[in-house]
Amino acid sequence: MRIGYGWDSHEFKRGVRLKIGGVEIAHDKGLGGHSDGDVLLHAITDALLGAVAAPDIGTLFSPSDARWKGADSAVFLAEALRRVKSAGYKIVNIDSTLILASPKIGPVSATIRESVSNLTSVSSDCIGIKAKTPEGMGTDNAAIAHAVVLLEPVAKPAHSKSRKKSRA
Ligand SMILES: [Zn+2]
Repeated sequence: MRIGYGWDSHEFKRGVRLKIGGVEIAHDKGLGGHSDGDVLLHAITDALLGAVAAPDIGTLFSPSDARWKGADSAVFLAEALRRVKSAGYKIVNIDSTLILASPKIGPVSATIRESVSNLTSVSSDCIGIKAKTPEGMGTDNAAIAHAVVLLEPVAKPAHSKSRKKSRA
């Protein structure tokens, strides 16, 4: 099995749409960044890349590359999923924690979980979306995301022991 860990942070900015986990959330500020600033998808993407020892998100999708200006972070996640698959693994579960002063994530956490489930093809009961406020951290103008993923090897379809056993 493989474990992967990812971390990301973005600063809140006015005049930007807030997107977390692929979900657009009504708020007076969004997250600045070269792409759409989706802090949760970036953390999950880095966790997946790390689990298969691939280069990190900033190396694969350089902020200095004009192609990724305003990019939908689902594109980055799709590339990480492609690398996980080609390495011969599949996702067992994803857990994450968001740390932000506002908006409240509770009312939208189920929607975010469904979105991450759709983007990763992982059942929503294997996706954890938790949120905390940054008590005493002085990071009220930022959103932070931590994510861990567990991968297991994809079973080889032919010549497996279980297949031989079922034939016997
Ligand atoms: Zn990011």
